[in-house]
Amino acid sequence: MTNRIDVAVIGAGPAGSVAAAYLAARGYSVEVVERVHFPRFSIGESLLPQSMAFLEEAGLLDCVVAAKFQHKNGAVFRRGNEEQSLDFRDKMTAGWGTTFQVRRDLFDQTLALAAAEKGACITFGEEVTRFMPGADGVTMQVRNESGAEREIAARFALDASGFGRVLARLLSLDKPADFPVRKAVFCHVRDNIADDTFDRDKILISVHPENPSIWYWLIPLADGLSSIGAVGPEADLAVAGTDSQTQLFNLVAQAERMNGLLARAEQIRPAGTISGYACNVERLYGPGFAMLGNAAEFLDPVFSSGVTIALKSAILAGHALDRKFRGETVDWMAEFEQPLKIGIETFRAYVEGWYDASFQNVIFSQPRQPTDVKRKIVSVLAGYAWDLDNPFVRDPKRYLAAVRELVASPT
Ligand SMILES: Cc1cc2nc3c(=O)[nH]c(=O)nc-3n(C[C@H](O)[C@H](O)[C@H](O)COP(=O)(O)OP(=O)(O)OC[C@H]3O[C@@H](n4cnc5c(N)ncnc54)[C@H](O)[C@@H]3O)c2cc1C
Repeated sequence: MTNRIDVAVIGAGPAGSVAAAYLAARGYSVEVVERVHFPRFSIGESLLPQSMAFLEEAGLLDCVVAAKFQHKNGAVFRRGNEEQSLDFRDKMTAGWGTTFQVRRDLFDQTLALAAAEKGACITFGEEVTRFMPGADGVTMQVRNESGAEREIAARFALDASGFGRVLARLLSLDKPADFPVRKAVFCHVRDNIADDTFDRDKILISVHPENPSIWYWLIPLADGLSSIGAVGPEADLAVAGTDSQTQLFNLVAQAERMNGLLARAEQIRPAGTISGYACNVERLYGPGFAMLGNAAEFLDPVFSSGVTIALKSAILAGHALDRKFRGETVDWMAEFEQPLKIGIETFRAYVEGWYDASFQNVIFSQPRQPTDVKRKIVSVLAGYAWDLDNPFVRDPKRYLAAVRELVASPT
């Protein structure tokens, strides 16, 4: 049994490290328990510019900049011969217009080490196995790789365990996601892309030529590597082959632009897969705990919103805990759950519109030059999904429906 610390964090992914860095820098005692050893592979490599402000607020931007990840300034969408290139610097909301495409093994390690430098204690190779809320804090049971167990007593716990979903499982808070089960197959390649019309500063999102519910990502990383992947309903991917490797490369062969760009690519990681990743919880907080990032909710990868939402949740929890520890009363619904949900619900409307193809039509109908409407949509896609000055955030469904009608009947 250790002495009681201020905050115990479950998981050292981006949400856990950002929360830990923010709180440790303010003098609170923070312990992070991470199940595996870093560096470790993770999917989720394309960041959004809004995330830069969250890294900055946690004092973690300098180390990320110093790591020299691939620069990113936008997204290119491709459907057959249609192409729409969106530059995030054309956004309506003030703030960062560029960001990075990151190898997550290096990115997550960079953040964890920097959080430790700010005073957070991080242990690797230990997992949280039990969680006991008390009247005045929480106790967690932790087991290491040799099976030895210990307890951590804390004034508060943050669950940042991603798809480990520790508290959702232990406290039975899981709630089915609204989205149908989809599957992603992916790998890393040395891309050897020689085509100078290809913009390495942008993620390429392509729609399958015949099946609009299948889409691909091509995320250029630093040092000539790229992350590639395909996403779709499990049954649709199964048509492309019996295993992830075959599915991925058969699907790539069917998409002309992807196939052309990757003609000389060398695979450097076996294909991986993840299925049924959309998840949700009954509530995002409870007595002595709050849930961050994917430990609570994950929508869909298509607009690369996952890390940005995870960092937003970490910063909101950091603000709330700082106030709580200074003796102020925190309303977790008003200060954490509701503000976080603004961005989640905004992205949800865009993801739904992507899969029913209506937002795909909006994207491909936008003029090349930035217009007022385009700037507002670009703002959301750059991650500014909490900017209530943007009508496409305040009422995303209504404004997207209005643009869809314009697109359907342009005269
Ligand atoms: C196919 C796919 C593609 C994606 N692409 C993108 C993208 O391009 N851009 C983007 O922003 N997002 C993307 N995402 C989402 C992104 O991966 C996540 O949103 C992001 O990693 C969430 O960060 P996190 O800190 O909440 O969790 P994670 O990054 O998952 O970190 C959780 C950590 O908790 C640890 N852990 C788990 N269980 C325990 C336990 N019991 N005890 C202790 N530690 C534990 C894990 O080992 C892990 O290190 C994608 C997701 C998918 C499925």
